[in-house]
Amino acid sequence: MPGRLVVEGGTIVTDYGRFRADVVVEDERVAAITADARDLAADERVDAAGLLVLPGGIDVHTHFWEPDPDPDPKEGFATGGAGAVAGGVTTVVEMPQATPTTVTAEQFAAKREQVARSAITDMALWGGVIGTPAQDLAELRALADAGAAAFKSFLASSSRSFPAVDEAQLLAAMTAIAEIGIPYGLHAEHDAMLAAGLERMKAADRKDPLAHAESRPPLVEAVAVNTVLYLAELTGCWVHVCHVASAEALRLVAEARARGVRVTVETCPQYLSLNTDDLVRLGGFARCAPAIRDQAEVDAIWPYVLDETVDLICSDHCGFTAASKEAGKEDIFAAPLGLPGVQTLLPTFYDGGVVQRGMDLSQFVRQIAANPAQIFGLYPRKGTIAVGSDADLVLLDPARSWEVTDDDLLHRQKWTPFAGKTLTGRVVRTLRRGQTVFDDALEGDARLLAAPGSGLFLARGYGEAG
Ligand SMILES: [Zn+2]
Repeated sequence: MPGRLVVEGGTIVTDYGRFRADVVVEDERVAAITADARDLAADERVDAAGLLVLPGGIDVHTHFWEPDPDPDPKEGFATGGAGAVAGGVTTVVEMPQATPTTVTAEQFAAKREQVARSAITDMALWGGVIGTPAQDLAELRALADAGAAAFKSFLASSSRSFPAVDEAQLLAAMTAIAEIGIPYGLHAEHDAMLAAGLERMKAADRKDPLAHAESRPPLVEAVAVNTVLYLAELTGCWVHVCHVASAEALRLVAEARARGVRVTVETCPQYLSLNTDDLVRLGGFARCAPAIRDQAEVDAIWPYVLDETVDLICSDHCGFTAASKEAGKEDIFAAPLGLPGVQTLLPTFYDGGVVQRGMDLSQFVRQIAANPAQIFGLYPRKGTIAVGSDADLVLLDPARSWEVTDDDLLHRQKWTPFAGKTLTGRVVRTLRRGQTVFDDALEGDARLLAAPGSGLFLARGYGEAG
């Protein structure tokens, strides 16, 4: 690590503005932001001429899945982190799904040790709240004390290892979490409506890709989100609605927020830059929950992104093997639910928002870095470029057009539903706490310049520390 690093000649974009400046980095943090650092002595200089200099992306919804005793793991903190930094993401907030699911302080501590062994990005961790067998809610306080960034539950059954909560359990958990005061993230699809949709497809002998989308239409989300918002209003719990793919659900969120309900909300590039034509084309490789929507729904979701009802964009990255997704060819329901996306998160949202829809660059930074940092207790050490903040810097070439290919991927599973799409705007270099961890000028896997275990565990509240 050099004593002093200067990133010079770039255009700085932060949540608060955009300006031409040089960034001086010392001891892993931003030491100064100055109009011209040419005369300043430095141990390393990075030329950012013609590039945007952004705060590192923060992906608050990843499934890197550790611990995982499987000899052929789906992802992992090291490989997932490699994909992350290649896409300009320097911090992730990892979901509680793992083997076992993270629902106790003891499991949380084990996961924290795994971060110290294998993380490439800096990592905060979610804690899980499961339904039946019901969790001891006293454990939630212990998870928060251990540094959990937020809690997560499912309202619809997803996997046996993560049982959904019903409305009574949801109310009890919200009451407990309201006391703790940190966000409660919900996968908001209504369990009974989803089950009925699946039954409907089964009765009609539907196994084609569109049957997946039709089994869980946007209404399944809207009904669940409506319940979440109502109980949040009753309890005062801060709810965070995960990966919304329903314009009606977003309308309900905007309304609730206007009357004072404490709610934040996220969506993902697969609901903004893919549609049911992609689902038909890709079959199992595009199966995720909520389902990918038709273009009319996508067009109805975008206004809520552009008016910032949607607080943040995240990936919901899952590392399923191509072989497991192939099973969707014969029967869409045989393919597991989830898509890789941590490496394509920033570029797809930059292209969809800034390039195609003229989104303001500071808004892009708010939704990809500053808001996630604020919601998960990491701001202003993370999520912005300011004196004293960690020197997590992404150099993005705004003019470069490139085609997404499987070859380019650094995470473990070498496929992406965005393959073949042409994007404008490419991450060319990523610095994590002042260290270059990804350099696109190098070749293939050599572009990754960080060792497993070099990422830090971030407890909630890290943002205010130091
Ligand atoms: Zn997820």
